[in-house]
Amino acid sequence: MHVSEVERGRACGCFCTACNGSVIAKKGKRNAWHFAHDAAGNCATAAETALHRAIKQVIADGSVLAVPELTVEETATFDGYERSASRTLARRRVTYSAPRLEVRIEDIVADSVVTVAGRDLIVEVAVTHQVEADKASKLGKLGIAAIELLAWQLNRDVDWNMLRAFVRDSFENRIWLHNGREPVQRQLAYMDALQHAKKASAYDRRLKSRAVETSAVGVQTNLSPIHVHQWAIDKFKRLWATYGSGTLTRLDLDRKAAGYVARWSEADAAGDPSAYFDLLVEWVREHTDSIVQVA
Ligand SMILES: [Zn+2]
Repeated sequence: MHVSEVERGRACGCFCTACNGSVIAKKGKRNAWHFAHDAAGNCATAAETALHRAIKQVIADGSVLAVPELTVEETATFDGYERSASRTLARRRVTYSAPRLEVRIEDIVADSVVTVAGRDLIVEVAVTHQVEADKASKLGKLGIAAIELLAWQLNRDVDWNMLRAFVRDSFENRIWLHNGREPVQRQLAYMDALQHAKKASAYDRRLKSRAVETSAVGVQTNLSPIHVHQWAIDKFKRLWATYGSGTLTRLDLDRKAAGYVARWSEADAAGDPSAYFDLLVEWVREHTDSIVQVA
């Protein structure tokens, strides 16, 4: 009961939901109306217990529940590039039926269970603290969808209308404890993240292919520099035969260009070796004293 609904004083006939002691409805002119214990006692949880019970009562009497969004974020790494991506299931209002309170499911007692589109949804109510990690993990293992309403920021003087609005309309003050669609959402987020990482890798490699300044001829072989130089020229001609367009009429690679050609690898081409080879030719022409003549 809200204090506004009952008669003043002892005549209210009310009892504390926590200790079951009788209470007096204080409805004076000076102070905000409230209930006080009849006998001075040690009842520290009276307000929380009453609020907890009142919200469950609103769930039992109602049929609409605001369900929060579910956002998951995953990180993926490709070729040393780490990227994140997230997926969100939108918040929504659901209509429920068959609300039940204090439902024992295996070794847990759920605050309430409602039926949404033919499926059970556990609704926990947290007034002072969240569901203990132990209970949350047990809820997860049950495979039943579960949300938790976080009611601790509600004022102590809320009335029934405010509590109904809290259950029906407030999307923020609640979290998913278990959602059966989460694994698939995580999978999708991971695939997005992997895609981002792959793109970042390919993009960076192309940037680097323009910027690399190298004179370290022979890094990948133990041939002498002169042999490496010849080896690079032969490699360039082979690559030209595969990816180049037109006939190569003259090729003079300087040491810098030869070093870069020696390092060039199809494995770095991110699936498009032809475009990657074009970058090599462009770089050799613009950034070295080499000659690549085509007829
Ligand atoms: Zn009490």
